[in-house]
Amino acid sequence: RVSASIYSAVQKLCLILGFLKELLTTVRLSDSCILQLAKTCFTTFLVDNMQLLQLKAIGVICMVFSSYTQHRSYLVDETLNLVRKLQFSKNAIRTYHLADEEQKQIQMITALLVHLVQFSANVPDSLKGTVNWSTIIDASVDANYPINCHEAATEACCLFWTNVLQRFTAAKSQDVPEAKGIIENLVQDLLTVLNLPEYPAAAPILEVLCVLLLQNAGLKSKDTSARCFAIDLLGGIASRLKRDSVICSKEKLWILQELTDAENDSSKILKNKCCVCLGGRGINMACDVCGRCFHPDCMGAGSQENLQRDSVCPLCFCKQQLSVLQSYYELENKEKGKRASTAHKKKTAIPDEVTAVDTVQQILLNYLQEAGPQDDGNLFSRWFYLCMWYKEDISSQEKIIYYLARLKSKEILRDSGSGLALSRDWAKKICLALGQKNSFSRGFDKILSLLLVCIASRCLILIRCCGINTQCFIRLA
Ligand SMILES: [Zn+2]
Ligand SMILES: [Zn+2]
Repeated sequence: RVSASIYSAVQKLCLILGFLKELLTTVRLSDSCILQLAKTCFTTFLVDNMQLLQLKAIGVICMVFSSYTQHRSYLVDETLNLVRKLQFSKNAIRTYHLADEEQKQIQMITALLVHLVQFSANVPDSLKGTVNWSTIIDASVDANYPINCHEAATEACCLFWTNVLQRFTAAKSQDVPEAKGIIENLVQDLLTVLNLPEYPAAAPILEVLCVLLLQNAGLKSKDTSARCFAIDLLGGIASRLKRDSVICSKEKLWILQELTDAENDSSKILKNKCCVCLGGRGINMACDVCGRCFHPDCMGAGSQENLQRDSVCPLCFCKQQLSVLQSYYELENKEKGKRASTAHKKKTAIPDEVTAVDTVQQILLNYLQEAGPQDDGNLFSRWFYLCMWYKEDISSQEKIIYYLARLKSKEILRDSGSGLALSRDWAKKICLALGQKNSFSRGFDKILSLLLVCIASRCLILIRCCGINTQCFIRLA
């Protein structure tokens, strides 16, 4: 029972934290202030039934994490302290409600971790708020940005997991179940948010854990129970990834068809059949560009007037967006080339033609922007996605401006209409399909084969983990 006065005090505190977060974006505070502020925010997690206040605290901590890079390790340390202090049990208190996912909840601490990692992709200051093409051009962004961002994220994850695992190995025998529970709960939460549109950081966090589990903390440990535990965890994660890839291979969503058959040409598009349900009757919507037909109902509520006005499907809409951005970018490059001395001719990378993957990625980015909060819908998640997608692209250095433009496509191409509102269900399917291409999913086969080698050398352990994931092991063996 919370009395009215306490309730209003909490409301005031939430307001204050909201203001403090805004203050952080405009003023650079002294180190002592920042540390004090962060410390105060962390204490809110130790109180039950204060979800709103905790959400605000997550916002402030993430702001500090992104703008004050020198304090990042301190913040991760504090998060670890929190893990230590919180009461963990098999039924951990999961009070963080996932947006638009009814009945799915994770622990506040996992939410904090995921957000922290996502905020390691620090969005350049000039890009916060509304921008146009010239702001993008003038933005001072290091060309190595996606790589640096990936490294920063990995560093934070490493720091976190190494400490958690260290604690597990150092635990006295009576504390082992509790330490196990903590890790299991974290992993379970991360698997809950894996491949949901708003949480791109879940994959890299799990990736780092898996790699660490292959090392001395897990499979190479001298302690049998630690090895078993590592196999349990890896097996659980493996079965989830396998399940996802099976679901994905059966997926027939029309947007994703574009990804699966690369040689797809317009002749394949069914005439007079709805692309969503493949039914024929009652079609009265068709895309002007590609000729795909739709039932208004199949496209979902709210999109009906929109399509009749614009008559362009999401695929074509995003493709157009990207080609306009590319032409802007090429123009810019030419001008730059003129200005640069002819003696120093450097080949500038011109983006290739808009690929199907790019288009589908852009659909996801646009969805996140539309679905996110009013001010700058999921800016950090979107930027994190871009950094993760292009961290391995060799030509990303030259194309950084193009990526920034993709992040802000809605504002740069203000007149191009808003496109269709995508249903959450579709966005999740797209996210899942794109997730199959990330380094976590791709690299997991390697992890599994190492796991198998380890198991083969210790057959006894195999029996223990059979319950979890037999099929997966047999398939790879
Ligand atoms: Zn239909
Ligand atoms: Zn179309």
